[in-house]
Amino acid sequence: AILAERPAEPHAETPSKASSGGFVPMSPGRAAGPVVAVGRARPAVPETTVADRVAALARLDEALAAARAALAGNPILAAQAALLADPALIGPARAAIEADGRHEAAAWRDAIAAAAASHEALDDPYLRARARDLREAGDAVLRELLGGFGLDLPAKPAIIAVDELTAAEAASLPPTILGVLDRRGGPTSHAAILLRAAGIPALGGVALDPPPSRAAFDGATGEFVAEPDAATEARFRAADLLAPGPASVILPGGEALEFWANVAGPADAAAAARAGAFGVGLARTEMLFLGRADMPGEDEQEARVGAMIAPFQGRPVVVRLLDAGADKPVPFLALASEENPALGVRGVRALLRRPDFCAAHLRALLRAGAGHDLRIMVPMVTFAAELRAIRDLLAAAARDVGCEPPPLGAMIEVPAAALTVPDLLAASDFFSIGTNDLTQYVLAADRGHKDLPGFADAGHPAVIGLCARVCRDAGAVPVSVCGEAAGDPSTARLLVEAGIRKLSMGAARLSTLRAAFSASA
Ligand code: PEP
Ligand code: MG
Repeated sequence: AILAERPAEPHAETPSKASSGGFVPMSPGRAAGPVVAVGRARPAVPETTVADRVAALARLDEALAAARAALAGNPILAAQAALLADPALIGPARAAIEADGRHEAAAWRDAIAAAAASHEALDDPYLRARARDLREAGDAVLRELLGGFGLDLPAKPAIIAVDELTAAEAASLPPTILGVLDRRGGPTSHAAILLRAAGIPALGGVALDPPPSRAAFDGATGEFVAEPDAATEARFRAADLLAPGPASVILPGGEALEFWANVAGPADAAAAARAGAFGVGLARTEMLFLGRADMPGEDEQEARVGAMIAPFQGRPVVVRLLDAGADKPVPFLALASEENPALGVRGVRALLRRPDFCAAHLRALLRAGAGHDLRIMVPMVTFAAELRAIRDLLAAAARDVGCEPPPLGAMIEVPAAALTVPDLLAASDFFSIGTNDLTQYVLAADRGHKDLPGFADAGHPAVIGLCARVCRDAGAVPVSVCGEAAGDPSTARLLVEAGIRKLSMGAARLSTLRAAFSASA
């Protein structure tokens, strides 16, 4: 009904509309080949005793709360969330930690196994079926305790069928993965963004039990063929989305429109450099450290960020400070689990609560950026004071490292920031609009919500209007867009009309955007 209220626009390229077949386009591109259903391998549960039993109990409580919050958000899984509050389950796990010093993961695994076994021994088929719920709910807690279960990926090239790819998994898929069929994934999740950046085609909402042995699909249109014949497979073989091309086009008015790249690791940075991006408009540093329980030291950060930006030597590089929180879990920052994480301690709010980490992080970025045209960008800015606080930390870090502080810019993702650019101007050398988060906050709909894909529309007049206002209020200070909208030709056109001249996108979108604007220029 919501979508019906807006005039339908021809969005052939946009990944945010459901296909007629019911599959949700997540990442454009075509794929054909064998399909392998992949599960997650459980890491070994430590069998050692713990030195600090109180800390182990606290870790169990935190994992229970996080798993409950995650499950409760899904109406189908809410019953499992309720199981995780059952004292008959939690009691024995706590006792094993308190009395025997068992590791919290081992204590929890055994409590679940015992409860599931006693359910399976019952006569009532309904209660017997609860055993499966118990195991699944138990696994959700184990995943929290053990930092996720790794995907069991096939060694040979294949399309993988998976249940809700996480951002960390999407960021580390090897090049042998031809495409992704995700049972639950939505178009604006971080997993989808990373798949698009890596040029890996993907569809969401694909529940095929069992999956076909081979498939061919189009991640932009949602077209899907199970057990395709050879001719169909040939038709779906991927085009080269990373073909080199110019870094900008001249618009009819004579101004240049620049195409920059969003990168999340060394592989897609190399692809973006080859594809001819103007520079890096957004380096997502948190993707290097997602899911990490141990805090990476300054040297490791320098090395990993350095490797990510190395292909862009000689071109401008905008590195974003670690953007932790919400759907990007960074356990080493030890942020409390929250009822409403998208509105909680994330981005710069998290950094300013960890000033020691932030200082080391800034020093590492400065060292990694030595010899580069480095700029540093601050995520989730609401107030000018946040920017000033980071600027002070940056000045101190530059003194420590012995360099000049590079330009510092604010991301515009929070509506309040978009509405108060004149206040931010004194503290910001550039702006970059993050339309993914800005859209979620302006339209009041979770960016990854699978039942609200129509709300993930940066082309909505309210969002475009804010972008136009930011351009106007910024005056001579440069403004770019680094949200997914920059890589969608029809929304990008609206952004250019609003005054944007720098678009930053996943490398695999560059050729499409170049073609769209060359045709009209
Ligand atoms: C955005 O919000 O648009 C953005 C670029 O940041 P991220 O998608 O990493 O939150
Ligand atoms: Mg964001």
